[in-house]
Formats: sequence, structure tokens, C-alpha cells
Amino acid sequence: MERFVYADNAATTPVSESVLNAMLPYLREQYGNASSLYSIGRDSRRAITEAREKVAALLGAQPAEIIFTGSGTEADNMSLRGALHYKKARGKHLIISSIEHHAILHTAKALELEGYEVTVLPVDNYGIIPVDRLKAAIRPDTALVSVMTANNEIGTVEPIAEIGAAVKAAGALFHTDAVQAAGHIPINVNEMKIDLLSLSGHKMNAPKGVGALYIRKGVMIQPIIEGGGQERNMRSGTENVAGIVALGQAAEDCRNHMEENIKRLTALRERLIAGVLKIPYSRLTGHPTSRLPGTASFVIEAVEGESLVLMLDTHGICASTGSACSTGSLDPSHVLTGIGLSHDIAHGSLRLTLGVQNTDEDVDYILEVLPQVVTRLRDMSPVWNQKKCCPEGLK
Ligand SMILES: *Cc1c(COP(=O)(O)O)cnc(C)c1O
Repeated sequence: MERFVYADNAATTPVSESVLNAMLPYLREQYGNASSLYSIGRDSRRAITEAREKVAALLGAQPAEIIFTGSGTEADNMSLRGALHYKKARGKHLIISSIEHHAILHTAKALELEGYEVTVLPVDNYGIIPVDRLKAAIRPDTALVSVMTANNEIGTVEPIAEIGAAVKAAGALFHTDAVQAAGHIPINVNEMKIDLLSLSGHKMNAPKGVGALYIRKGVMIQPIIEGGGQERNMRSGTENVAGIVALGQAAEDCRNHMEENIKRLTALRERLIAGVLKIPYSRLTGHPTSRLPGTASFVIEAVEGESLVLMLDTHGICASTGSACSTGSLDPSHVLTGIGLSHDIAHGSLRLTLGVQNTDEDVDYILEVLPQVVTRLRDMSPVWNQKKCCPEGLK
């Protein structure tokens, strides 16, 4: 039976009913500018204050340490540029990992062109950053170390507390892109010694176009957007009140249901992984246990990731791949090559990411459809037919 199964929650998530209900009044009658003195303006101001408290609570932070932004990308840009451009920065050196999101990679590249020095740390085959290598890379002039909390393509969760302790001991600032992790796994900015943390609404059942940056009290960074001085001069621009309220509600919902969500999604994910790995010549990418609850990611040999995604779509399943030929580049993603996969193997990558709305029946349906789709694609594949005759040729 045909169904619609959205299994691409790492790309974006649907807005939940409770989030939609919380934000709607601010798109209707509560349209006041939060800087205005009359009552509907003050109502908006109060709503932003409450949202700030909820986002702070999710991270174990103080409300004054949260700045709302227009996206996760903006929070990432603000962290890197802000920390390095700050006039009293410790130096001109930045450290990132090789599997960061483009919001970090491309910002680091731009900073390099401005004359800053960037060290890109390799990761192991699971996508874990070796902490001893990180320690060795930190220099007296290292202003900032930026390592993501969890990877968006393979779901690997980094040893953030250990990394935070190492960075602090060396005297640099520590930023983490927690866009995939926030709301999904426990994060405590104090226990993990985090100075700056990015998160995004649309990865946690709030709408697109709102994010937040945690800035530890006492940590100074240069704002990247100047103007009317909103968000304590750190991020000017009239506040996206409805979006901010939505993010606050999403943070509260995630915090209230985190334990049960982790339990349920991990069980669903494990069943999905076990089912997919029954497909011959398929394997898991990312760390087997230190991974996001909802993220299952694979490489399936002798199929093209893009063909797989398009075929799954004809059966109502939304999935994604890190091998994007249609974008004009034949190169697989930097994450897949970063964990040591050959181009050949990485071309068959498939990412299935579950969210709070997914059910047991969704997993059943994926496990019914996917093997059939793989068989059909392999039947058409000269690579596969060649491999069938001499399986020792398979790597
Ligand atoms: C989605 C994502 C971003 C970008 O967030 P936007 O709000 O879409 O700009 C940054 N980092 C990671 C790890 C992401 O998954």
C-alpha cells in the first residue's frame, strides 16, 4: 500500500501543531514591534523574553546569553567572523573539522581570504574528531575552535565535553554548531564548556528562518549585522517575533519530551538500520552508537544515490543522498570522503532521518520499498551485473 513517509528530518522538519498554535497570534493580532511602547509592542517584547528563557533552559544557559538570529547559518557566520574580527581576539588562527556544515566551511574559507589562518582537522572513519590531534593543533594564537555537536550527513555525535575541556584548558574559545543536535540530545553549555553554540528552528519542528546563538557571559564577539541595536546590539533588525515564539515553543517541547523521544526514535532507527543492512553490499556510515537518535545513513554499493532518492520519491518516501551529480559536481560530499570512503562507494549514499512524527508503520514501509528499489536499480546497472559474476570484485 502506498504511503507518504517523510524521512528527511535532517534537511528540515515539519512545524508541529503546538508550535504553530503558539506562533499564530503573532502573525495575526499581536503584530506589534517589540521596540514600541504601547501594549501590543510590549506584548511582543514579553513574548520574546519568554522564548529566550525557553531556549536558554534547553541548553542550561542564562536567558541573557541567547541571541536570536535569522538562521543556523547566520549563527555559524556570527560565531566565526565575530570571534576572529573581535579587536581583542587572542590571535588570527581558527580550527575547524573537515566534516563541518558549509555554513562553517565556507565562512572559514572567506576568513582565510581575509588573512586569517585556518587549520582543518581530519576525522576518523566514524567521523569522530580525535581529541589528541585537536589538542596538538591548538596554538597560543588560536582564537576559536569550532566543532559540530552532531554531523548532519552521518549523524555522528562528537565528544563535545572532552573537546570543550581541551579547548578551555588551552585558553581558546569553543564554538559548536549544534543545529542537528539541539533539542534532540542533551546539551549543557556549562558541563560541555561551550562558549558559543548555534541552533536552528527548522531542525526542531519550528519554521525556517529563525535560529539562535548562545554566547557565554563575558565572551566578546563582533556583531556582523549593524543597525537599530536589537538583541543587545549583537544582531540588529526588527525581531521576527512569530519565529522567535515558535523557536521558544519548540525548545520547550523538545526539553519536555527529550527522554521519550530519544528512546522511541533510537528504537525506530535501530530497526531501520538492521532492516536496511539486510540488503547485500550495504553498510552503515557514521558511528554505530554515538549517533543522533533519528539518523540512519548508509552506502549501498552499485546504486546511484540520486537514482535511489528519485525512485523512493515515486513511492512517497522522502530521503536524501550525499552524492549529488545533478548539482553539477560529480564529487560526493566532503563528509563521505572525510570519513575515508572512495568516490565509487560514496556515490551510493543514502540518508534516512526520522523525526518525532514518524511511526513504526513508516519504518515498515521503508523496509518494504527500499530493497525492491535497490534490486530494480541494480538489475539495470552494468557495475552490478559485472559484480554478480565475480563477487570478489566487490570492495
Ligand atoms: C541545517 C544546518 C545548518 C544551517 O541551518 P539553517 O537554519 O538552515 O541556516 C547548519 N549546520 C548544520 C549542522 C545543519 O544541519
